[in-house]
Amino acid sequence: MQRFAYDVVVIGGGIIGTSTARELLKRNPALRLALVEKEESIGLHQSGHNSGVIHSGIYYTPGSLKAKLCVEGLELAYKYCDEKNILYKKCGKLIVAVKESELERLDALYKRAIENGVKDISLINREEILKMEPNISGLKAILSPNTGIVDWGQVTKSFADDCKERGADIYLNFPVTGFQTISESSRGSIVVNGKTKSMLCKYVVACGGLHSDKLAMLTGCSPLPRIIPFRGDYLVLKPEKAHMVKTNIYPVPHPDLPFLGVHITPRIDGSVWLGPNAVLATHQEGYRGTGFKIREVLGYIEYR
Ligand SMILES: Cc1cc2nc3c(=O)[nH]c(=O)nc-3n(C[C@H](O)[C@H](O)[C@H](O)COP(=O)(O)OP(=O)(O)OC[C@H]3O[C@@H](n4cnc5c(N)ncnc54)[C@H](O)[C@@H]3O)c2cc1C
Repeated sequence: MQRFAYDVVVIGGGIIGTSTARELLKRNPALRLALVEKEESIGLHQSGHNSGVIHSGIYYTPGSLKAKLCVEGLELAYKYCDEKNILYKKCGKLIVAVKESELERLDALYKRAIENGVKDISLINREEILKMEPNISGLKAILSPNTGIVDWGQVTKSFADDCKERGADIYLNFPVTGFQTISESSRGSIVVNGKTKSMLCKYVVACGGLHSDKLAMLTGCSPLPRIIPFRGDYLVLKPEKAHMVKTNIYPVPHPDLPFLGVHITPRIDGSVWLGPNAVLATHQEGYRGTGFKIREVLGYIEYR
């Protein structure tokens, strides 16, 4: 088996893996870094299968890292897209209260957004909503003009290109199957095994998305918590109806659910998506609703 030596091996070619690798190389240009991805291309999983929204940081708990990073990240995302000529649209977002009972939660969300430092945010009334979006009726809405849309899969690929330019080696079709620790040498003490190649390194950063639990187990960590895949299903508006909305439209989130709610999302290609709902997937990477992996499904059932 071929073996290569690196300072750091980053596992996972999604947006977390590629951006982590990119940042490590920016801070330490001399680093010998490899990024390994089990698929034949970068960004094929969540990072290339999402709503494509550049979020502004409205929802997160004030003072949390998520809140801080989302507000900073929005500015950085636009700056990066400008530098790399990646198409985006700052089409804004409305979180619309349609019932009296949602107004209190909408006001609380607005207060939270202000505490988080979300820029240019405002509350608008029924007439102002209709002026912006004639096909949307609501009692009151939060308007976030700086929310945008982008193809995050394209951003992920661009981050991987940056890594290559900074000297990283990117290995595709490299599913990590296990780890070993060997006696320490100046070249490292961790062996990252794939099917046909292995790597010796000093540090491993695992960014395996939906497979994070399996990677953690391979390193000897607890099998809990486990990841149970829910597929996000979307409907697409007929092209002749795509003119009906211009901005991202979200409901007031339900406090008992961990989701933002079914939203209307204009896409960078001009289409408009409605969704996602959440459907238990019949395998970890079951995006199309077809295919069934009996061992995976039995695994979810026994994990109450
Ligand atoms: C339905 C939905 C809508 C969303 N909408 C938005 C949105 O609008 N805006 C937003 O900012 N975020 C959104 N998100 C969240 C966002 O997509 C994710 O947070 C992000 O893509 C996670 O990136 P990741 O790199 O962790 O995971 P992934 O993109 O899944 O990447 C993980 C990678 O690791 C690889 N991997 C796993 N195991 C191994 C192994 N053993 N060996 C080698 N490689 C391995 C996988 O092949 C994969 O490429 C959405 C998510 C979902 C599910």
